[in-house]
Amino acid sequence: MRIVLLGAPGSGKGTQAQRLVARLGVPQISTGDLLRSAVARGTPLGLRAKAAMDAGALVNDEIVIGIIRERLKEPDAARGYVLDGFPRNLAQAQALASMLADIQAPLDAVVLFEVDYAEIARRIAGRRTCPNCGTIYNVHDAASRGITHCRNCDVAPLLTQRPDDNEQTVTRRLSVYDEQTLPLIGHYRALGLLRSINAMGSVAEVESRLHKALAASAQAARA
Ligand SMILES: [Zn+2]
Repeated sequence: MRIVLLGAPGSGKGTQAQRLVARLGVPQISTGDLLRSAVARGTPLGLRAKAAMDAGALVNDEIVIGIIRERLKEPDAARGYVLDGFPRNLAQAQALASMLADIQAPLDAVVLFEVDYAEIARRIAGRRTCPNCGTIYNVHDAASRGITHCRNCDVAPLLTQRPDDNEQTVTRRLSVYDEQTLPLIGHYRALGLLRSINAMGSVAEVESRLHKALAASAQAARA
């Protein structure tokens, strides 16, 4: 399946994307991960992206679309993928539609994660990432409370907090999200692709709702 997950920063869609790709055997394509990788490697696009990310702003469409276009050409994306953090605005959605029309492989489902912003601020403040394997933990969740080192890695690296996961940056990102992403919801709803799920609750509860939404999309596509 070719799936887009939509939701504000911290809505839990990254965690669900990780679980979904494990279940479906398709890659997770995260703009954030692709950009961080470009920044870490110091590529020209990465250096331009870094200046925007440090300021809590969104990286411009030209950079993001370029990075996604290259990623979708890789062989592992042929069977499907879970897009996480892309598209983020109408221009990106139109660029994506055009890329997919060229290869006659349209999206199967767009799922919107609905949460309230107070919950998002709490989740983001608790988010920690393994620098080795990329697993995301949340120290505010019962399952990960007090955790400081990765459970998946043999040499258990110390978990890190992303520099952009602080209060001021979060507030800025949420306001940018509202402005840029909300029009996407209307766009995908008009196309009949959008399914909304309540993203409040445990990871398992949200995962169950996500599976139901995707099953409904698959059924609608067969009808
Ligand atoms: Zn790890």
